[in-house]
Amino acid sequence: MEKTLFQKIADKEIPAAIVYEDELCVAFRDIAPAAPVHVLLIPRKPIPSIAAATAEDAELLAHLMLKVGDIARAEGIEASGFRTVLNTGDDGGQTVPHLHIHIIGGRSLQWPPG
Ligand code: 5GP
Repeated sequence: MEKTLFQKIADKEIPAAIVYEDELCVAFRDIAPAAPVHVLLIPRKPIPSIAAATAEDAELLAHLMLKVGDIARAEGIEASGFRTVLNTGDDGGQTVPHLHIHIIGGRSLQWPPG
């Protein structure tokens, strides 16, 4: 099966500013940042979206969630606050079919999004 764009980034076939990686996940800076800090955290496993995750992925999803705080701390936005976003499908604005968690911060964010 064709690799997703984010698999290619995880496999270092496409360059990206990687801020964290381990055996299960990779985090890198978004190419079009929506805020001073905008990191994408992905599992190496190419799960198409959060809706496609299964019980088999429970430990992996927990791992990703626990990394969010670590990345926010490393980026210096834990105290000021930040937003985590999982866009899903067309109406959700998902453009890359590989589960990714946006970690966005470094400025005051509005809610709800448009
Ligand atoms: P989505 O819209 O699917 O939730 O988020 C996809 C994100 O991937 C977007 O914020 C977009 O800017 C980012 N993106 C798309 N192509 C690339 C790329 O080649 N490199 C990096 N670092 N980010 C990308």
